[in-house]
Amino acid sequence: MHDEHQQYELPVVNPATEELITTVSAATPADVDAAVRRAASAQTAWAALAPGERARLLRRFAVVVDEHLEELAQLEVQEAGHPVGNARWEAGNARDLLDYAAGGVERLNGRQIPVDGGISVTFAEPLGVVTVIAPWNFPMPVAAWGTAPALAAGNAVILKPAETTPLTALRLAELGLEAGLPEGLFQVLPGEGPVAGTALVEHPGVAKVVFTGSTAVGKDIMARCAAGVKRVTLELGGKSPNIVFSDADLALAATAAPGSFLDNTGQDCCARSRILVQRDVYDRFLELLEPAVKSFVAGDPADPATQMGPLISERQRERVRGYVPEDASALIRGEVPDGKGYWYPATVLEGAPGDRRSAEEIFGPVAVAIPFEDEAEAVRIANASDYGLSGSIWTRDVGRALRVSRAVAAGNLSVNSHSAVRYTTPFGGFKQSGLGRELGPDALTAFTETKNVFISTEEQP
Ligand code: NAD
Repeated sequence: MHDEHQQYELPVVNPATEELITTVSAATPADVDAAVRRAASAQTAWAALAPGERARLLRRFAVVVDEHLEELAQLEVQEAGHPVGNARWEAGNARDLLDYAAGGVERLNGRQIPVDGGISVTFAEPLGVVTVIAPWNFPMPVAAWGTAPALAAGNAVILKPAETTPLTALRLAELGLEAGLPEGLFQVLPGEGPVAGTALVEHPGVAKVVFTGSTAVGKDIMARCAAGVKRVTLELGGKSPNIVFSDADLALAATAAPGSFLDNTGQDCCARSRILVQRDVYDRFLELLEPAVKSFVAGDPADPATQMGPLISERQRERVRGYVPEDASALIRGEVPDGKGYWYPATVLEGAPGDRRSAEEIFGPVAVAIPFEDEAEAVRIANASDYGLSGSIWTRDVGRALRVSRAVAAGNLSVNSHSAVRYTTPFGGFKQSGLGRELGPDALTAFTETKNVFISTEEQP
């Protein structure tokens, strides 16, 4: 156990090789305090800049990220074991978020509301210093989802990356400075959750916490934010359903299913890890699913043909094994490389509503298959979860697609597709999957307070 007030280093390990890449200095509570002070002073100057100038600097930041896309992607291959194709997309997502948010700076309009005796106008005021606490599963996108709109709305940001994946975040902060962002406006503080994370959440100078990670930590952060009535956005876990009706294009649904729970080695809050299949096509669907799962390529993340890398850490592999030992009986099991690296094979299990593996977020390349009789039962099983983040519906019946989309209690659904996350559309969870929304046209609003000002038009005596 570290003395949290002493300087110490965090190891950064390549999960595909188990080799130490480097170490980074972990922030102490004193570092957090100094960072908040720097951020507060930078924020005052930033909010006073002309909107066009703030937009220009954010666009410039997007351009500099674009110029370093390959470098950022390679860092993510190393520290997170993401396949290089995914990592390139992730770096591009960070760039796009900055560009999109920049477009919002000059469109952060207030309203003029009819009142008696004068005019009433609203202003979207920045909150001040915002902290973004990011997880290790999508280090760059999640960092950018919080940071870009917060900066665009006139706030300063302190980003705390996850212990295992600080490198892309640190590089993004350097690129921000290179693009001309003022010193202190966007800072990255690597550190441990219970030390640096706690200090940020509890610091009186932090106005809002944006957290993505486990539901347990999210609940704790929300409770601690209550003490200071801090604003909070939570993006937490999921156990999302992939609902396949018998009238669907089964071949297409089976081909698409592996990516929906194996992408990012299943370490995805949106993973469709409960495959619900109408009973009359259940056997046929599994026959089609088996070759699709087995041909999902697991291997060297640096190889562009790779679709699935290792898990992030030995700790995470132990967590997954705690649910499913590698020799547990399975309907389908894929293959992974031997030797070094935190590998775990693609696995499809027979599920049953209510059992632990069908109810809890495993956060590994594991899905359960569960048969259902009819539409009502499909909806009932889909909703029998504490989570409500995403889900997919496969059917050719447009009426059913809409009925089921409206009936499933989740924030992000897709029909005949597994695509639900775009920076242009709102993202977030129902129930214990989260609180608030990120992305989309209203992303900046989550980083503002509405202020109403009445101006009298009465003649002054
Ligand atoms: P975690 O929730 O512990 O960590 C996420 C982030 O929160 C990290 O930056 C961490 O340092 C920080 N943190 C941890 N404790 C904190 C505290 N007390 N105060 C402030 N910040 C704190 O997640 P984990 O341990 O990395 O993973 C555990 C499980 O969480 C996974 O198996 C998975 O089920 C889930 N998870 C979900 C997501 C998601 O996207 N929804 C992301 C990561 C993990």
